[in-house]
Amino acid sequence: MEIEFVGAAREVTGSCHIVRAAGKTIVLDCGLFQGKRNESHEKNLQLPVPIDEIDAVVLSHAHIDHAGRLPFLIRHGYNGPIWCTPATRDLCAVMLADSAQIQEKDAEFLARRGKESIEPLYSLRHATRTIEIMMAVPYRRAFDVVPGVRAMFIDAGHILGSASVILDCTEQGQTRRLVFSGDIGRSGLPIIRDPEPPDGADVVIMESTYGNRLHESVEGARAHLASVIRETAAGGGRVLIPAFAVGRTQEIVYDLHALAGAGAIPPIPIYIDSPLAIDTTSVFEMHPDVFDHGEDLVRTVHELFRFELVHYTRAVEESKALAKLRGPMVIIAASGMAEAGRILHHLAQGASDPKNTVLIVGFQAEHTLGRRIVERRPTLRIFGDDVPLRARVEIINGYSAHADRQELGSWIDRVRERSPNLRQVWLVHGEPPAQDELATTLGAKGLKVTCPASRARFEF
Ligand SMILES: [Zn+2]
Ligand SMILES: [Zn+2]
Repeated sequence: MEIEFVGAAREVTGSCHIVRAAGKTIVLDCGLFQGKRNESHEKNLQLPVPIDEIDAVVLSHAHIDHAGRLPFLIRHGYNGPIWCTPATRDLCAVMLADSAQIQEKDAEFLARRGKESIEPLYSLRHATRTIEIMMAVPYRRAFDVVPGVRAMFIDAGHILGSASVILDCTEQGQTRRLVFSGDIGRSGLPIIRDPEPPDGADVVIMESTYGNRLHESVEGARAHLASVIRETAAGGGRVLIPAFAVGRTQEIVYDLHALAGAGAIPPIPIYIDSPLAIDTTSVFEMHPDVFDHGEDLVRTVHELFRFELVHYTRAVEESKALAKLRGPMVIIAASGMAEAGRILHHLAQGASDPKNTVLIVGFQAEHTLGRRIVERRPTLRIFGDDVPLRARVEIINGYSAHADRQELGSWIDRVRERSPNLRQVWLVHGEPPAQDELATTLGAKGLKVTCPASRARFEF
C-alpha cells in the first residue's frame, strides 16, 4: 500500500493525495492551486495521475483548494465516483459553478487586455457534471470506495459538511487504517459541530495551516463584533464587512442573530449583499441535521439565517439602492479579500467616511485590497480611483475555520489516545515555517512526523 503526495505538499493550496491499495488508485481531494496566476495555472494544468488509472475520488470538503479541480478531471474524461458528504455535494454545486464562472471571466479579462491568454480550466458544464457523479454519504456510515478499501466520514468541524476521512485498506489479509484529517476546524465555531478525532489510526495525513499561530477565541470574536457594531451605530456610521460568501457570511449572520436576540447590538438593518451568499445560505438551510445541536440558537430558533433585521439583496438594483439609504447599517458583501464583487462598490463609496468602520473577519493575502486595508494604507485604489481610507479599521481573527497550533496539538493528542498503533504522521496543507514548527512540537510528543514534498511516495 502506498501514499503519494501531489498538492498541498509544503504549501496550503491544491490539496491532492493519491492512495494505491488493493490494486486500486484513489484520489483524496483534487483542489485548485491558488496564488501567483501563472505559477498556479501551470500546476493546475497537470493531472495528478493519468485519468484512466483513477478508480475513485474521495473529497474531504467543498473549499476550492480541495474540490476546485474536480471538474478538470471530468473535462479529461473522469467518470467514476466522487465520494463526499451530502452538504459537501450541495456546497460544491454552488462553489464549482462560481469557480467556472470566475475562470471564464478571468480569461475574458486577460484576452481584452491583450495579455497572454489563459484558457479556463473547465466550464460550467464540467462543474455540473461533477455534481452529477458525486456520491453523498452521511457522517459515520461505512462504505466501500473500491473493493478492499472501506471508508467513513467523520466531522472535521471546519465548514458545513467538512470531513476527516477514515480509509481501511486491506491487502493480502492485512488491514491498515489511513486517516486523512482534511482541514481541521475548531471547537465552538458557530453553526457547525466540533471536530471529531478518529480512532484506530495506523497512519495519519494531517493539515498544518496554522501550526505556528494562535487565534483569538471564538467567544472573543463575537464580543468584538458586537462592540464594533454598537460603537459605529452610535456614531451614525456603516459597518462594511468583506466576507467570503461561503461559510464566513453565514457565521457572521448567525452571530448577529444571537447578538440581536440578546440585545447586544442595536436594531439597525443588516444587508447581505451577495447572490452567492444567498445561494449558500439556502444550502445551509437544507442541512440542519449537521448543525451543532449543543448551541442555544440552533436548539431554540427555527430560521437561523432569517430575522427581522436581516435583508438579502440579490438584484443589482437593490444593491445599488443601498448607497442612497441613510442611517447606521451593516453591509456584508463578497469578496472576502475585497478583490472583486459588490464590496468594492461599498468601499469606493464608504471608505472615506470617518463615521464608518471596515471590519475584517477573514484572512487577507498579500497584494489584495483587503491586505491594504489591514495595513491601514492612507489611500485605496478602487476601480482606478484613489479613495482616502478615513473609516475606522477593525480586525477580528477569531472566526478562522482552521485549528491553531494548540488546537492541532490537542486533535492529534486525542487521535493518539485512541490509536495504539499510530506509526506515522505526514503533515500537509501548510507553509514550511508552520509545518516545521508543528513537526517539532509533535516530534517532542514522540510521534514520527514527516513533511512530504510534492510527488514524495511512502509505503504504509
Ligand atoms: Zn478548508
Ligand atoms: Zn484547505
